[in-house]
Amino acid sequence: MSEELIFHGEHLLDVQRLKKFFPIKKGVFRRTVGWVQAVDGVSLHVDKGETLGLVGESGCGKSTTGKCILRLLEPTEGDILLEGKNISAINPSEMKQFRRKVQAVFQDPYSSLNPRMSVGNIVGEPFKVHDIHPSSDIRERVADLFKKVGLRPEYMSRYPHEFSGGQRQRIGIARSIALRPDLIIFDEPVSALDVSIQAQVINLLDDLKQEFKLSYLFIAHDLSVVEHVSDRIAVMYLGKIVEVAKDTELYSNPLHPYTRALLSAIPIPEPKQKKKRIILQGEVPSPINPPSGCRFHPRCSEAMKICKHEEPIMSAIDHHHQVSCFLYR
Ligand code: SF4
Repeated sequence: MSEELIFHGEHLLDVQRLKKFFPIKKGVFRRTVGWVQAVDGVSLHVDKGETLGLVGESGCGKSTTGKCILRLLEPTEGDILLEGKNISAINPSEMKQFRRKVQAVFQDPYSSLNPRMSVGNIVGEPFKVHDIHPSSDIRERVADLFKKVGLRPEYMSRYPHEFSGGQRQRIGIARSIALRPDLIIFDEPVSALDVSIQAQVINLLDDLKQEFKLSYLFIAHDLSVVEHVSDRIAVMYLGKIVEVAKDTELYSNPLHPYTRALLSAIPIPEPKQKKKRIILQGEVPSPINPPSGCRFHPRCSEAMKICKHEEPIMSAIDHHHQVSCFLYR
């Protein structure tokens, strides 16, 4: 089955054949001498109330995909649809609506919070930008949001540097839910936090998702982190999605050799259970000149002759599981 047939219907978010290439410029005249093919034909969707985990090693294009969806980067090709509407063709007032409906939380909570603003003003800023509540109401609204994310409203007049990393991430989360968005894109939201704090933040995200009926795109490099939050998981390698499955299915029956290698690297709590670690050979190739055929072939222990010359397409193994690999053709 082709990729076009797999991703159909009306979803909250629908990304179709997204490409983002960055030019490499050289010389006095800044001529384009090549392209970094950061995202090359990514199709994915997020349904209402769903969390899609997007996982892969650093540099695989997952954050670039997120930034294209947020319109922080202009896609080179492809379509991004929110509730069926193509967001590349929207006018400025529709863009304002889009910014209300789609929010983001990034890895480093400190750099995304203005150090000169009190955290109360940071969390209340979206109300002012979108002119939603009268100024007299905003303080009360912000206090509510602080409670929702487990912070004391008395802290509203403090500044970002007075908080720990976990608390700062809670402030960023409070700001992201202020406008009651439909979709939040989390880009490595817990990677900079201690493991114990990670679990607390992930539990908070779960609670907020239920309470506000949110949908998430959760970007991470670590499969063990997305396991706890995702309904489905998409695995990315060198600018392409190589496998998509329901969370339980991906962990119990990983099909793509790259997914298997990523999963084998997750430490298991019960050391008596033996698990063979798959060590990937070599480095991730450069997205400037990606390998021919299957991009994973130079590192794949199961590579066949065809893998060097032909590119595998996404095939449906069953309704909830798709993989892009010749082993399953
Ligand atoms: Fe390995 Fe070939 Fe499958 Fe690529 S297509 S993952 S090289 S077996």
